[in-house]
Amino acid sequence: MEVVNDNTCSWINDLTPRSNIQTISSDLHCEWLIVGAGYTGLSAARKLGQLYPNQKILLVDAQLAGEGASSRNSGYLVDTTLNDGFTSNKELENYKKKADIYKLGIEAIKRFIKEYQVDCDWNECGKYFASSKKEDKKILENFSDTLSKLGFEHNLLSNNDLKKRLGTNFYNIALHTKGGILLHPAKLARAMIDTLPENVSLYENSLLVNWKKINDIVICNFKNGSVKTNKIIFATNGFLKSLGIKSNYNFPITLTASMTRSLSDEEFETIGKPKEWGVLPVRPMGATIRMTKDKRILIRNTAEVYNPYQMTQSELNKRSLKQRIGIKKRFPQLPNNIIQSSWSGIVSRTRNSSQIFEKIDKNIFVAGCYNGSGIGVGTLFGEQIAIKASNENTKEIETIEARNKPTWLPPNPILSLGVKTRLIYERIRAKSEI
Ligand SMILES: Cc1cc2nc3c(=O)[nH]c(=O)nc-3n(C[C@H](O)[C@H](O)[C@H](O)COP(=O)(O)OP(=O)(O)OC[C@H]3O[C@@H](n4cnc5c(N)ncnc54)[C@H](O)[C@@H]3O)c2cc1C
Repeated sequence: MEVVNDNTCSWINDLTPRSNIQTISSDLHCEWLIVGAGYTGLSAARKLGQLYPNQKILLVDAQLAGEGASSRNSGYLVDTTLNDGFTSNKELENYKKKADIYKLGIEAIKRFIKEYQVDCDWNECGKYFASSKKEDKKILENFSDTLSKLGFEHNLLSNNDLKKRLGTNFYNIALHTKGGILLHPAKLARAMIDTLPENVSLYENSLLVNWKKINDIVICNFKNGSVKTNKIIFATNGFLKSLGIKSNYNFPITLTASMTRSLSDEEFETIGKPKEWGVLPVRPMGATIRMTKDKRILIRNTAEVYNPYQMTQSELNKRSLKQRIGIKKRFPQLPNNIIQSSWSGIVSRTRNSSQIFEKIDKNIFVAGCYNGSGIGVGTLFGEQIAIKASNENTKEIETIEARNKPTWLPPNPILSLGVKTRLIYERIRAKSEI
């Protein structure tokens, strides 16, 4: 397996390239090893660095730190995700448990950006769940009912309001939740890298090839070296399965997104100069589409089982075309060729949408699988898995562990066939919303 990503992500290209990259090129020993330097691994490393200022902590990544899904996502820090509304108290209770975790995730990020004075284009503008289909009103009314029961501020909107707010006539119905936040995902990840404690050593472009436990030591083999560690935290999210971790409980999904250049003042005027906004689809396979504060449009409208991990440029171009059509459908007055770049990224899913947060063996821990909502939850899970690995407990850990555990998945090829079939079905249901 190789973990290499395309280098065409607009968010990453907004930042100054980093220098002084260290790779693993000898045999090392440490107290703590964290594998995966996205939001989860970076948060775990920061917490361990604070808890153990005199211990040797290593953080490794197969590519450049933060440049996996953590810098490639759509930047919605969510307070809620859409469920069709609930008929039983048990379902409502489960939804509340999920929302409690999102709330803690938002708090974890707020604490981080306040403490380190991070500029990540933070905007508490809420988010829309929107659809062009009037018949989706029922779904949104049920959802509204759930949100009301749980005390989430929100309101339902129709076409005229939406046209003014979003600058497009495409949507007929939407639900706006006030608590959602939009941000620049790569700026957030970069801030986490820049503020790593001094006793954390970061090694990049270093793929963990295999690992084993002998007595109480975990031995990790990289291409040009090895690490022997007392304790290990796996934070590789969509790549957990490839390392043989919780293999029957998670699977990777590849998403692709595109970003336009900044609209010119005249173009922006033609769509009514809306303020920054973010729309999530009502139907699972519909498009996520966002207007950034610097007048760029981001769109993500694919989710698929894709092997190998790296998407070729020609495959990426095909998805980019779909995204161009998605933008054109919503903004017919804009020119055809305004997409500046397209990229792919890997997320992790579980069957019942629960996340993984576990000790899987003595001194071996794992946190991941955020089902496409990992900005806040990944940051929270990273710091809390570090605390759990230190044999401590917190209220946050209790909240995380109160949620149902991920349910079992069948092995391949049954799994991959099942997932592909489901995705095709959802794509057909969401056809007009792509
Ligand atoms: C297009 C897209 C849109 C998304 N939109 C949103 C959104 O709007 N809101 C939201 O909350 N979430 C969103 N997500 C999901 C979110 O990005 C992830 O949930 C989050 O980044 C997970 O963070 P992580 O640190 O656990 O994993 P990652 O950021 O994936 O980090 C895992 C790291 O592990 C490394 N790794 C893997 N295998 C190995 C190995 N063998 N050896 C060493 N290192 C390894 C990888 O290189 C990677 O850097 C989106 C994701 C994508 C791709």
